Amino acid sequence: MLKNFSDIENLVIVNTCCVTKEAEIKSLRKFRQSLKRYPNSKVIATGCACRVYPEKFSAAYQVIDNVQRNSIIKGIFPDPGKARFFLKIEDGCNEKCTYCIVSKVRNKIESKTIDNIKEEIYWAISLGYKEIVLVGANIGLYGIDLGLHLIDLLQALKGIPDLPRIRLSSVEPKFIDAELIQCLKDYPVCRHFHIPIQSADDNILSRMRRGYDAAHLKRSLDLISRNFDDIAIGGDVIVGFPGEGEEEFLNTYKFIESNPFTHLHVFPYSPRPGTEAYDLGDPVLREEKKRRLWELKNLIAEKNYQFRKNLLGKTFNIIVETNADIISGLTDNYIRVEVNGDYDKNTLIKIKINEVSKNKTYGSI
Ligand code: SF4
Repeated sequence: MLKNFSDIENLVIVNTCCVTKEAEIKSLRKFRQSLKRYPNSKVIATGCACRVYPEKFSAAYQVIDNVQRNSIIKGIFPDPGKARFFLKIEDGCNEKCTYCIVSKVRNKIESKTIDNIKEEIYWAISLGYKEIVLVGANIGLYGIDLGLHLIDLLQALKGIPDLPRIRLSSVEPKFIDAELIQCLKDYPVCRHFHIPIQSADDNILSRMRRGYDAAHLKRSLDLISRNFDDIAIGGDVIVGFPGEGEEEFLNTYKFIESNPFTHLHVFPYSPRPGTEAYDLGDPVLREEKKRRLWELKNLIAEKNYQFRKNLLGKTFNIIVETNADIISGLTDNYIRVEVNGDYDKNTLIKIKINEVSKNKTYGSI
């Protein structure tokens, strides 16, 4: 147990993740870099990767669990230079997706109370943030430990004076229903949904034990697009899950192609020891996963381009960010727009989109 955290000078905390093989490798790399880069500091490791593989982090001054981590980071101020305030509303997931290690290592749902969340929002407002992103391991499960629902939280936040725009980080398909959409319709919510669909093939979805099928996904997407104009819809997809042959992949591909997705994160499947799917092995060859990944990436690049072209001439608010000489900001519907001019960081400005290329979007005040 880490006792006198506040007494330790030069503390480095490495927060690790093991959701994919890649995340685990990156975590380990960051940890080793920190040991080298900060030889005079105490390097503490925390997070899920060191819970699953403590031996890999044995060089740490101390390995602490997620509960201790949460109590430490409570006292750390976010960087007010950032445009968005990430507000963790819950931790943990108790779903049973067969490929996922998260529900094995963080299966206890712990939600912040509405009062605590409001307090953090007041704090973010006082720091000048114009956007708050609600995050968690599975925010659709918010409140089940408190007898609450995500909608209760959203309703409770509505009354906050000068509430910044709210973005939902990622919502599982099974939580997208008419009630949620209705609640979000009259809200200062970003027109942006991120939905971890993972696949759109019924057989693969059932092997993943996701608890929905492609027909449900279709209904959810229709519901969203019927209710919001110019909505951005992102998705997560895993390619190469055991049993995904060409036919199953094409079902996912065609689903993405024929539905209004605008952004996509594509992950090659990596078996995680300790999960149910681990026993299925990893039969899809790496090269094949790569091919599927690029097919989806190319598809979404084109869809994103078309989406942005349809926004030409329309106006949006962006929160100014600066990077080197470039001034840009995100619209509520998740388009990064570059603008010319001299604007203060973190101010909200209204711009009109007047040029769109394959990779960039330009606007003017
Ligand atoms: S819902 Fe998400 S976090 Fe929960 S078990 Fe499934 S993949 Fe993991």
